[in-house]
Order: sequence, then structure tokens, then C-alpha cells
Amino acid sequence: MRISNSKGLILQRRDSVKDDSEVITVLLENGNLLELFSQGSKKITSKNSFSLNEGTITNIEFFQSKNKNKMSRLKTARSVEIFDKLDPLYIEFIGSIADNLKEYNLGSKFYKNLMLFQKNKMNFNSENLVFLLNMIIVKVSNVVLYFRGCYICKRKNEIISFSYEGGLLCEEHSTNYPNFNKGAIKFLFDINFKNIDEINSNINFEDIKNIKQIQIEALKETLGIYLKI
Ligand SMILES: [Zn+2]
Repeated sequence: MRISNSKGLILQRRDSVKDDSEVITVLLENGNLLELFSQGSKKITSKNSFSLNEGTITNIEFFQSKNKNKMSRLKTARSVEIFDKLDPLYIEFIGSIADNLKEYNLGSKFYKNLMLFQKNKMNFNSENLVFLLNMIIVKVSNVVLYFRGCYICKRKNEIISFSYEGGLLCEEHSTNYPNFNKGAIKFLFDINFKNIDEINSNINFEDIKNIKQIQIEALKETLGIYLKI
């Protein structure tokens, strides 16, 4: 078997049918998903065990299986860094949509944005982080949204709301949608036009809650998934 090296985010570790062994799911930096058989990593004495926790960025070395139906085998795992701000529930969520990310070819974009978050040590609590990461998923999805003004009438003033059906909405066209303050609108604009590390808009808790609700609906529709968060 050929030995390969890669770096990735550990999404899931689950027990294998064999004693002390596990199956590890990794989102690689190239956006591919990899499932690895990991011999003996449940043992306390395992050198790999610590680096296989969900939410860890890990350098992995593995024996690549030639047979598609046979899992590749982990050789070594060495953690690079740990996402201390990432809620375990969110890791689970990424795991649950990992197949969709792959199908839509979004894995590498998602991974890159995630790294930017970590690099900049953005001052977000885990609730806000979930919100922002959802935003990234939408951003890298093929949802085309209008952010230059109201998506229905194209006016640029009196923008007070937002919908994933089209984009920003003016006062007249937002009757069925929650109203947001200016900070939230600017934030929505920024997140669609700027790199994640350039965003410094402020957004309040109430707006985050509302936008998150809209996001969840949109993500359900876009990716056809059930979201627990
Ligand atoms: Zn309008």
C-alpha cells in the first residue's frame, strides 16, 4: 500500500467492530472527505488518540487503499491545532453535511474559510461562530443573492430586511420578513463581498437570532438537510 500525507479537520470518530479500533472521518484541506480505519486508537496508550478528537486540525499519514471498497488505514496522526471555540454540536453538524459539501464541491472553500477564522482568532462565542459558519456555507453554495439593493425593486435606500429567496429587501417589500438594524444589513453585505478576515461589522444578538433562523430555513432548502442547531 502507498503511504499518503495530508492535513484535515477531524469530523467524527466512531467505534469500529474491532476492539480498540475506530473509524475516523476527516475533511481534508483539498475538500475531499476521507474515512480511515484507525487501529488501536481507543487505547489510552495510543500515540494517535489525542490528535483524533473532533474539531482538531491534524496532519495524517495513512496507507492508501487501492480497493475502493476497502478503507484506507491510518498510520500516524499529529494535531496541528485545536478549534477550542468550535461547539461539539457544530462539528457534528459539519459531519452531517459533509457529504453535501462534497457533492456541491464546497469542501475546500469551507475549509479555507474555517482556517481564516482560526487564524484571526475572531472574538466570537460559539453561538455567533455557528451563525458565521452557516453564512459561509450559504456563501460558498450556489445560492445567488442580490445585495446591491432591494432584490425586487432594486432601490438602494430603506433596506431593512433580507431573505434567502433573493437577497436584501426594502421597507415596502419586506412585510413578511423580520426587520434588521443597519449593523446587520451591513454585515450581510460585507459577508457576501469581503473576505471573512476583513469583516468588522457589528451585529447584535437579536439580529443574529433572526438571521440564523432564516439561514437554517435556507440551508434546509439548499442542501436538503435536517439541522439540529
Ligand atoms: Zn423593494
